[in-house]
Amino acid sequence: MTGAATLLRDVFGFDAFRPGQEEIVDAVTAGENVLAIMPTGGGKSLCFQLPALMREGVTVVISPLIALMRDQVRALQEAGVCAGALTSGNTPEETDAVFEALEAGRLRLLYMAPERLASGAAGLLRRAGVSLIAVDEAHCVSQWGHDFRPDYLRIGALRRDLGVPLAAFTATADAETRVEITEKLFGGEQPRAFLHGFDRPNIHLAFAAKNGPRQQILAFADARRGQSGIVYCGTRAKTEGLAGALREAGHTALHYHGGMDAEDRRIAERRFQQEDGLIVVATVAFGMGVDKPDIRWVAHADLPKSIEAYYQEIGRAGRDGAPAETLTLFGPEDIRLRRSQIDEGLAPPERRAADHARLNALLGLAEALKCRRETLLGYFGEAEVTCGSCDLCDTPPDVFDATVAVRKALSAILRTEEWFGAGHLIDILLGNRTEKVLQRGHDQLPTFGVGTEYDKRQWQTIFRQMMGHDLLRPDPDRHGALRMTDAALPVLRDQATISLRRDSVRAAANTRRPAV
Ligand code: ADP
Ligand code: ZN
Repeated sequence: MTGAATLLRDVFGFDAFRPGQEEIVDAVTAGENVLAIMPTGGGKSLCFQLPALMREGVTVVISPLIALMRDQVRALQEAGVCAGALTSGNTPEETDAVFEALEAGRLRLLYMAPERLASGAAGLLRRAGVSLIAVDEAHCVSQWGHDFRPDYLRIGALRRDLGVPLAAFTATADAETRVEITEKLFGGEQPRAFLHGFDRPNIHLAFAAKNGPRQQILAFADARRGQSGIVYCGTRAKTEGLAGALREAGHTALHYHGGMDAEDRRIAERRFQQEDGLIVVATVAFGMGVDKPDIRWVAHADLPKSIEAYYQEIGRAGRDGAPAETLTLFGPEDIRLRRSQIDEGLAPPERRAADHARLNALLGLAEALKCRRETLLGYFGEAEVTCGSCDLCDTPPDVFDATVAVRKALSAILRTEEWFGAGHLIDILLGNRTEKVLQRGHDQLPTFGVGTEYDKRQWQTIFRQMMGHDLLRPDPDRHGALRMTDAALPVLRDQATISLRRDSVRAAANTRRPAV
């Protein structure tokens, strides 16, 4: 792993960069002047915080929003980073502590309101060993914008004074503002600009529920014979098994995971880079150093860890701009595994909650009812998306009102006091007098046998979609028994309806009764 990737994980607790972040982090770390335009919520702060930790000395961060500065400083301090702010909201003690850390050379990030620049901060900064200036909300330098802050005009002089690189960030992308930022902050010198959107229009997006996953991956690879591709798997053992199955089917396939020795890994990387039509079946350990432009497809045999990880992994396909395809498989076992990895991890509670939220975002994408690209880029803050290249745009899903079905499932869960998994709950809904049902007296429940309008596979699909919508979560302290979340309350109380995809219900049923 690179230094940046290690810091990303250990300090910030993220498993992958968001779109655009890595390139910006690399450029800022290398000391280039940078102007980055990212949508709100896209993850700008990481793009100067991480380089600040990679570089020597102090990074001065100028931001107009005091509350936001204080939040960021607190979060950095909690992550063990020496950071401080000089704002009008400081107590004298806070200000003293900042100066002390600065003088001792311990401070890594110094947040400042622009007003501070008016009161002779330049001298202080000159002595402090500043190595980078980061400007948040850089459009505030624009006299014609709504957010003009006159003190932002002092930043240009500060940059010249200190002779250090400057990285400017904003969500406002119009050309006039960009020109003004270049003039006023960079003295007319062109910074390296990052303003491309996050969309990778040549990558086709598709998800499928697991239904004989090995066969699904083999079929996907067979349809793309002779093309270079990557299959990501959740475990090391699986990479070896699946690579073997692909070879048996006549493909050139290698496995790759972190448990292999360095030499074998290098050989696999080199072969993939140089040969055409090679498939690498790998864990997420594969890809950091891979820069092959003509990877034509990426498949996930298991659900990735987060929506960020998903974007990064599929993003390895089609770097040459030519069409590339992706397929991500997922099932209830994946959801269970990913949830338990988060619950059983060592992260503090807030971080775990954030990890669950990021997993929810990915599950929302997996179970989406409309365009995947819109859902994916919407999550990263991009509002205007044209697609036409995802499975749901190809074939719009057939959606049905599942409110009654969901309520029946919730009722089966609540009447058995949230102690059971989907298999047993489905037996109850279908009225199956299994030994377990009879032993527990569950044939006496009012819910017993109320769900016969669907068969077992259809109920499995409904339960999976309920987990995908985070209405149900497996409880690790109850052997993975499904428990209702608060998100399910409105449906249970008849205050909300819910739609689910019928096509996967029907597709699941079809696999048992092939069409004639
Ligand atoms: P912006 O300033 O661009 O509006 P922030 O820097 O506040 O956005 O980031 C928005 C959110 O995205 C924050 O909750 C942050 O924790 C999260 N975030 C940023 N980078 C990543 C990443 N690589 N992986 C996961 N979450 C991230
Ligand atoms: Zn689409």
